[in-house]
Amino acid sequence: MLINKFYNRDTTWRHYKMTKDDKSIGQEIKEPYGSILQCNCNEGKPCATVGFLMNIIDNSSLVINVWDMDGDLIRFNRFSQELTGFAESEVLGKGWENTFINVNNREHFKKVFKEICSGKAAQIQEGRIYCKSGEAKYLLWSNFIASDNSGKPLSVISIGIDITDRKKAEEQSSERFNRLQEMHGLLRSAEEQLNKQLAEQQKLYEALEHSAYYDPLTSLGNRALLNEKLGDAIRNAELNKCYAALILMDLDNFKKVNDNYGHNFGDELLCAVGKQLRSCVGGKGLAARVGGDEFAVLLPYLKKINEASEECQKILEIFRKPFVLNGRELHVTASIGVSMYPGDGEELAELYRNADIAAYSAKENGGNSVAFFHKHMLEEITEKLSIEEGLRRALRNDEFILHYQPLVDTSTRKIIGVETLVRWNHPVKGMIPPVKFIPIAEETGLIIPIGEWVLRRACHQYVLWKNKAVNPGTLAVNISVRQFEKPEFLKVVKAILEETGMEAKDLEFEITETIAMKDLEHSIKVLMELKALGIRVALDDFGTGFSSLNYLKKLPIQTLKIDKSFIDNVTLDNREDTVVQAVIAIAQKMGLNIIAEGVETEDQLDFLKKEKCSIVQGYLFSKPLAVEGMEDLLVHRQI
Ligand code: C2E
Ligand code: CA
Ligand code: CA
Repeated sequence: MLINKFYNRDTTWRHYKMTKDDKSIGQEIKEPYGSILQCNCNEGKPCATVGFLMNIIDNSSLVINVWDMDGDLIRFNRFSQELTGFAESEVLGKGWENTFINVNNREHFKKVFKEICSGKAAQIQEGRIYCKSGEAKYLLWSNFIASDNSGKPLSVISIGIDITDRKKAEEQSSERFNRLQEMHGLLRSAEEQLNKQLAEQQKLYEALEHSAYYDPLTSLGNRALLNEKLGDAIRNAELNKCYAALILMDLDNFKKVNDNYGHNFGDELLCAVGKQLRSCVGGKGLAARVGGDEFAVLLPYLKKINEASEECQKILEIFRKPFVLNGRELHVTASIGVSMYPGDGEELAELYRNADIAAYSAKENGGNSVAFFHKHMLEEITEKLSIEEGLRRALRNDEFILHYQPLVDTSTRKIIGVETLVRWNHPVKGMIPPVKFIPIAEETGLIIPIGEWVLRRACHQYVLWKNKAVNPGTLAVNISVRQFEKPEFLKVVKAILEETGMEAKDLEFEITETIAMKDLEHSIKVLMELKALGIRVALDDFGTGFSSLNYLKKLPIQTLKIDKSFIDNVTLDNREDTVVQAVIAIAQKMGLNIIAEGVETEDQLDFLKKEKCSIVQGYLFSKPLAVEGMEDLLVHRQI
């Protein structure tokens, strides 16, 4: 609704609300100030005091507004106009909220205005208005109701102070405060993040440190921890004049456990052993795992050496009862080696090496035992190592030679074959017999290339003899277990036959009982294939191993060689006689050829002839001979 100003003749003016269609003048809006500042001093004409007050109102730097009780603006002083940019004519008669209040706050404003009218609202209010330019202004309002003489409320007068600058300053500082808060928050979360990272790093560091000193599988100490503690123990023993013992323990046949039951099962066994070892050692020392199936115990403070052997016995006790893993019972044993400080070494590496040598010696003695280090063990090992090294060189430098020992028919005394026996012609030590190096070659695996060399050279020699019309009969060649278990063994044999022109029918391999029994199924398979090739097989050293007739039945072999140890005693001991007689009888029943080894006397020969043992070998006829000697003998073919 519009409000228009209409001037009186005396130049005063009156306000009228226009009718709804804004075409004619409606209700007069009484001069609000007039009603408050009623003064008749000048007989109804404007008086100086009212004029003075009106001047103040219009020239003040306060927003002074007057509303009628409907909320329509009926007065809008000059300062209000300057502040908002609206002329009085633009806003008079309109609701304040429509012009100055943000859409979202209009309802709220109306509510507050009603409260002002009913005297319920606080006199002082803070509010935000929007100027014509769109700029926001903040005002601190003081509202009161103007009533006529009878007390009837006529209008609401509001005086507002522009507090925009203060508000903005406040806003800015609160913004700054918020920003500070935000920064504080950021710093706090950065600090938290940093702390978290530090904690994680610490954990990582601890885990790394743990993995550097502990075995992940068994949670026992590892070699690094053992080394550190061993160093401490040496210093401690020196200071306190006491002993320190380093015990190394190696499980016997652990490889078999892994091979037969799988690595997971092997791991479980290691864990179980580790657990028992830890509880056995308790607070007396350190239990560690230092390799695959190698454990160590360090006893750092011993008054007597005896205490170490007592502890070792306790450790062996762990293995008296079977381990039960996944419902499976498993008997395990261990070999234990001990070195003591002082005595067995001055420093860490030496003590470690010597305990290792002692453990090796315990294993050599069949395992499940304890060995304390002794100097002679070191000498033996050194010798072994030098032999191993020498064997490698011998292979490279062709230092091996072959000797042949005749196999003789007992009735005709004719040579029906030769056994190939290798020798090592050492450039410094001279001729070295096989007992001195074959076991080491077997242990190190060097027997594989050596055995191959022997077979090739023997076949080659045999063909040379044959070409010279010298007939050695059967060529017997010893085959080691290491060669026999190699998957490519047969391939190698076939290649050598082809290469040398050797005929399979002239060849007899000598394998020991232990080879055959090690893996019966595999042995039978290989033996069948050899048989198919036409190569015969003799069971060597019969009587020294299991000598199980049951197994003998299953093996596709053609010959049995009775070990020298039985032959030695046949003429002295009735019991041995009976054994040999029984073996010969059974072998004959099984259709096997029999060779008696190590026949040295005529008496032995007579005995064997009587027992119908058809072939013998021994010094009685000939020692093993080099090629020339053997050839000489073969040419005569009779001894
Ligand atoms: P072996 O296969 O039982 O060989 C027979 C051993 O008995 C030979 O010892 C031979 O010289 C010896 N011998 C034969 N008759 C008599 C006798 O009347 N009295 C005495 N005291 N000894 C006799 P050698 O040559 O020292 O060989 C020892 C062992 O070395 C062999 O026992 C065999 O197991 C192994 N060997 C020899 N050459 C080879 C080879 O080329 N390969 C493999 N794997 N082992 C071999
Ligand atoms: Ca032999
Ligand atoms: Ca033999």
